[in-house]
Amino acid sequence: MILIQGAGIAGLTLAGLLQQQNKPYRLIDHANQLRPLGAGLGLQANAQAILAKLGIKTAVADSGCWLRAMTMGPAQSPRRFEFDQASKPLGVHRAQLHEALLARVPADRLSLGLSVSRWYQGEHGVDIELSNGETFRASHLIGADGIHSGLREQLGRTGDLRISNQWCWRTVLPGQPLGEEGFEVFDGRHRLGAFPIGRSQTYLYQVESGLTKTPDISARDARELARFGAVAAPLADAWSSDLNWLCHPLNDRPVYWGKGNVALIGDAAHPVTPNMGQGAALAMEDAWYLSRLLTSRQEQAAPGLQRFRQARVQGVRRLSWLAGRLAHWHWHPVRWLRDQTYRRLPAHLLLRSQNNFVNHFIKEMDHV
Ligand SMILES: Cc1cc2nc3c(=O)[nH]c(=O)nc-3n(C[C@H](O)[C@H](O)[C@H](O)COP(=O)(O)OP(=O)(O)OC[C@H]3O[C@@H](n4cnc5c(N)ncnc54)[C@H](O)[C@@H]3O)c2cc1C
Repeated sequence: MILIQGAGIAGLTLAGLLQQQNKPYRLIDHANQLRPLGAGLGLQANAQAILAKLGIKTAVADSGCWLRAMTMGPAQSPRRFEFDQASKPLGVHRAQLHEALLARVPADRLSLGLSVSRWYQGEHGVDIELSNGETFRASHLIGADGIHSGLREQLGRTGDLRISNQWCWRTVLPGQPLGEEGFEVFDGRHRLGAFPIGRSQTYLYQVESGLTKTPDISARDARELARFGAVAAPLADAWSSDLNWLCHPLNDRPVYWGKGNVALIGDAAHPVTPNMGQGAALAMEDAWYLSRLLTSRQEQAAPGLQRFRQARVQGVRRLSWLAGRLAHWHWHPVRWLRDQTYRRLPAHLLLRSQNNFVNHFIKEMDHV
């Protein structure tokens, strides 16, 4: 039996895949109730391919919105990139994705209000004690328990958070003031992005850099839209004082997959800053590879993940961090240089490199 700790995007994807393969597993989460939480996610073709394998792509797409184009870059001179049919990202509410994944897991496989208190990995499996005192032996213990993973801590990886001093505010606006298009623009220490995530919902996020202490969560004001130019103007009418804001620091941690058959996936293994929009997709990719590794049984889980996933995930972590830094450069000569370079980069090259990255997984996924 495989024990998965954490019923977020990574844990539920893994559970759904193991369910399809008739592998014995159990899923636990420390929350007493799985409530619809979060705001928006952009899912690119790699995440969409896994949803298709799980048989829920249509359901998720029906609740979300296909994006026709994104306008990106410096607030005063952004560029518009149009997607072709095959590479259209899907904007969804995290809660809708979560719900669709959860529907693939029978209720008797999921226990809430539980976490792993202790475990010992021996020759014949992993002996586990849960927070309710229950003990049993599992073949594998998988930590899918997010950026502040308890299992990662039990594996001895503590104090390795990399602090960006960037904070992100997220909310969902009513309506679709941007139609089927989105944008992400930056201006000095500030960045604003938005895209539709359903017929009547638009995800909005705002990032501020250079913050060394926890900011005031309620400090977002519609007047701030003005700094982001014409592209942000349509949002003003949808803004109201009773929006529900979430606020998180944008930090990451070094990639770490665990030991032997005690393995980590998703944010537990590699929280990345969200600047490439790949956090949820990487978590789902991990689940895909791990479900294959667990079926073949030729290799232990953590070294297997390290072998298949390290280079790709490490690359995203580095690039995301760099993209976050570049977007918030505020010293004028450097900003000018960045903006000139961005303006001259051929659009097809930018789109092609993004597509190559996404499609690499799709080409490989059936050959694990
Ligand atoms: C409530 C919430 C809202 C989010 N909202 C957004 C958003 O709006 N936009 C965005 O881009 N990203 C959001 N994220 C992050 C995004 O979901 C993840 O970065 C990405 O999907 C990777 O998923 P994950 O499954 O690895 O981690 P997560 O989605 O963080 O899931 C981790 C799960 O593990 C559980 N857990 C944690 N610790 C323990 C423990 N000790 N024992 C048992 N269970 C435990 C948590 O309850 C959670 O269900 C959110 C995450 C959460 C948890």
